[in-house]
Amino acid sequence: MLTDRFGRTIDYVRIAVTSACNLRCTYCLRDESEAPQKTQQLSVDDASRLMTLLGKMGVKKIRFTGGEPLLHPDIAELVSIAKTTPGIETVKITTNGVLLDRHLNALIDAGLDGVNLSLDTLDRHKFISITRRDRFEQVRKALDRLLATPGLTVKINTLMLRGINSDEIPAFVELTRSHAVTVRFMELQPFDDRQIWRTGRFMGAEMIRERLFSAFPELEAITGHSTEHYSFRLTGHRGSIAIIPAFSRNFCASCSKLRITADARLIACLYHHESTDLAPALKAELPEEELKKRMIEAVDQKPKDGLKSSRAAAASSMSRIGG
Ligand code: SAM
Repeated sequence: MLTDRFGRTIDYVRIAVTSACNLRCTYCLRDESEAPQKTQQLSVDDASRLMTLLGKMGVKKIRFTGGEPLLHPDIAELVSIAKTTPGIETVKITTNGVLLDRHLNALIDAGLDGVNLSLDTLDRHKFISITRRDRFEQVRKALDRLLATPGLTVKINTLMLRGINSDEIPAFVELTRSHAVTVRFMELQPFDDRQIWRTGRFMGAEMIRERLFSAFPELEAITGHSTEHYSFRLTGHRGSIAIIPAFSRNFCASCSKLRITADARLIACLYHHESTDLAPALKAELPEEELKKRMIEAVDQKPKDGLKSSRAAAASSMSRIGG
């Protein structure tokens, strides 16, 4: 079992399978034309080796992210390998949805358990200004398909940007009326190479909560997933609503997560600047015991909480860290 110095058991790993992305969200990446980025991609063999070991070490849940995970040419194969890896029970994906319509059937056939769709606005013009790409129609189509697909856990991740999409809370809540979806309002975090998060767009969890309650005073509190610090539902609605205080870091005490980047670095905490480079061990095909030793060392570095961490990896984009 992977257990850290503070007794937290690690059973969840987010793997960024590629650092490439087909959107250029202003809070995450520069526009390509300004600074072309060299992209990294995790090979199927390396991902498979890592997952086999993680499964043996007690990891039960894998989430593929990126970059944009659907840009990995073998994404369905990765899901299928993860699903058949002993120990791994749940395999999900976090995606911007641009390519989802094309891949959904193959992903479901591979055994995918759930999709978190990142969608900050339901308005095409705002979508273009946030993402710098005109792909709203594709994403909306993907959302409609997801909502109509039985058996998949569907969550919508909406990053709250003050004065940009803060007026759309009711429109997102409306999606929970007839669909078993969780709409999650997220705090902006200091991970973008331009530090756009400093420009007054940040909306803290308390402010999101106030806006939510002023629109829906009848919301009932419910118990959500461990990262869903505040969870609510409206009577008669099939879905639920959550606020994720990712920047406020109120849930570090129950963190069970590690991240692996597309260049095989293991990150024990988003807010900790140290990472463990697993690439040399993978490249040299070092024995499993060596790889295991490196993972245990990395987990040993996991700080008690993100606020006490030495410094944020602030210059790094979320697309490299894996969201
Ligand atoms: N491309 C996929 C997607 O859009 O879901 C996966 C990777 S993306 C980096 C994962 C998540 O990170 C998205 O929900 C995105 O909104 C979020 N994200 C990116 N930059 C962020 C930031 N500075 N603060 C908070 N969340 C951020």
